[in-house]
This record gives sequence, C-alpha cells and structure tokens, in this order.
Amino acid sequence: MMRVGIGYDLHRFDSAPGPLKLGGVSIPSTRGLAGHSDADVLLHAIADALLGAIGAPDLGELFPSSSAKYRGMDSRCFVEEAHRRVRAAGWIVGNIDTTVVTDAPTLTPHKQKMRQAISRLLTVPVSAVSVKAKTTEGLAHGAKGIAAHAIVLLNHATPSRRRSRDGR
Ligand code: MG
Repeated sequence: MMRVGIGYDLHRFDSAPGPLKLGGVSIPSTRGLAGHSDADVLLHAIADALLGAIGAPDLGELFPSSSAKYRGMDSRCFVEEAHRRVRAAGWIVGNIDTTVVTDAPTLTPHKQKMRQAISRLLTVPVSAVSVKAKTTEGLAHGAKGIAAHAIVLLNHATPSRRRSRDGR
C-alpha cells in the first residue's frame, strides 16, 4: 500500500532584489524569485508531489494565480493544505526527495535548515527529507531562475488493519 508523486516547478528571478524563500526558509540572495505567492519554488514542487500522489488537482488548480486571495501567500500554506488532503485520504508521508536547480545562490549552507523546515511541515523525521542542490553550469535556466523537482512516497496510514481485512 504505497503511492508515489512527482512535482516540478520553475520560477524566474525577479528584476528587483527581494527575499528568496526556498523550502520555507529565507535565503540570503541578491535576487528573489518572481511569483504570485512568495514564489517558494521548492515548496510548490513538494505540494504538487503530494497532490499528485493522491490523484488530487494540482497546485495551480487549487490555488489559481488569477486569484488575488493568494497574492504574496506563504507557500507553507500550500504544502499544509496538500498534506491535509494526503492525511484525509488515508495516507502518511514516508519520505520525500527533492532537487533544487540553480547556479546561484549556493544552497549548500542552507540545505539542512530547509530539510528541517520541510520535515516540520510534513511531520516526518529530518532523515526522511532530502534537499539536493544542482547547478546548470551556466547552461539552461540556471542564471535566470530556480527549478525544483520533488518526489514523495506515501504509505497507507493503517496498513496492518487493511491487510487483515483483505485477508492477506
Ligand atoms: Mg510555482
């Protein structure tokens, strides 16, 4: 009784300097990301992975950027709503693996803080959360924005009861 979900997002750098939010953590950066919400590209990928794993509508459908309601929204709310739906559907997060792709800023000093923030949001141990960082070596979008990939494994919340009910 397992499910997997995959999420991806990409935001371009804003022309104005601004706070950069990644994984719910403020990262020192000369540039922030453009977006309708707080533009936390990593949390958006995570929310979509959670929603995808339970066959729910995606983030853009649930929180349309056409709605003024979500302007400047703290993206932790998106993950919390996706996580609420996961639990309501009878699943719990097993582990989550992510990759953030950008040429700047350097994310290594912030990875542990991001893992901790994500683990709190998803109520899993830090060891169940991975945040990896990649550059594009100056190719592709690396200097223009930040992309994030996320994959999540869900376990059924009551596997033993289900097993006995199914006679397995
Ligand atoms: Mg997004």
